[in-house]
Amino acid sequence: NDARRHQAGFAIYTPELDLSRTSHLSLLSELRQAVEQNELRMFLQPKVCLKTGRVDSAEALIRWQHPRRGFVPPFEFIPFAEQTGRIGQLTRWMLLRAMELTRDLAAKGTPLTVSVNVSARDVQDAGFPEVLDALLAQSGGAPERIRLEITESGVMENADRALTVLHALRARGFTLSLDDFGTGYSSLAYLRRMPVSELKIDRSFVQGIHRDADGESLVKSTIELSHNLGLSVVAEGVETIEEWQTLVRLGSDYVQGYFASKPLAVEDFIAWRAARTPFLVEAAGSGA
Ligand code: C2E
Ligand code: MG
Ligand code: MG
Ligand code: MG
Repeated sequence: NDARRHQAGFAIYTPELDLSRTSHLSLLSELRQAVEQNELRMFLQPKVCLKTGRVDSAEALIRWQHPRRGFVPPFEFIPFAEQTGRIGQLTRWMLLRAMELTRDLAAKGTPLTVSVNVSARDVQDAGFPEVLDALLAQSGGAPERIRLEITESGVMENADRALTVLHALRARGFTLSLDDFGTGYSSLAYLRRMPVSELKIDRSFVQGIHRDADGESLVKSTIELSHNLGLSVVAEGVETIEEWQTLVRLGSDYVQGYFASKPLAVEDFIAWRAARTPFLVEAAGSGA
């Protein structure tokens, strides 16, 4: 995971932006301005239901369109926002956008559930459930339309405190998803205690799965385990038809990845959904 590698102190060079040359102080004040100056965007990536080809849910991914630096990818500023205590503001911004959008789409008769990534800071914050109450009141959105993606490492930091927050969120009607599954250190005991309804298999386990027998049995067991625990499964990072077909065969419930679509601006997502769904892929060997 790029975000985590960055956090661990590796310098990642990108042609657009070299943050090691940028003073953190200036980034901090620019991040503060990003919300006020309307530089943030919510992009959406479809999650395709493998049984029906329908797209009733999507993941919200933050984008920063900086006036001078250009596009700043999340792994360049999310870890920084977490370290400097600004992440809560970004989470609130994304949640409000997601609540407004799902409210509007439900009113138009084209309901959508939107998954929003929440950081370790958020799930360790005992005040986070009340933040969500305020956002619901402000937006008139429905908690059932919002899914919160959490990571194992975010919970493990202080599992008891996080579990209290997660149960409070669940009690309000939000659903929870365990993101990047397989990359963290959580035990099966915690998985059982977490009130999540969905598990997302990290793309590092998905990519090349059709030519990796060990990888395939790992994913197969994870899907069976999830189903036995009553969780639905999303496979992340599906880029090819071969990966897609393998995941159909292994019984994944949803698939997300570039093969169906990259993350899109909201208007583009809505147009994509209208034109391209049901998104159906022929089974392997049927002459696809
Ligand atoms: P994530 O939550 O695991 O999101 C999935 C990432 O995989 C996204 O990267 C998405 O664009 C990318 N992806 C999707 N399909 C494919 C594929 O087929 N191939 C490849 N190579 N990549 C694919 P993105 O948007 O750059 O976000 C990276 C990470 O940044 C996210 O990982 C999440 O941890 C974090 N992030 C993004 N938006 C937010 C946010 O609003 N709040 C917080 N706290 N974190 C965010
Ligand atoms: Mg996610
Ligand atoms: Mg993920
Ligand atoms: Mg990931």
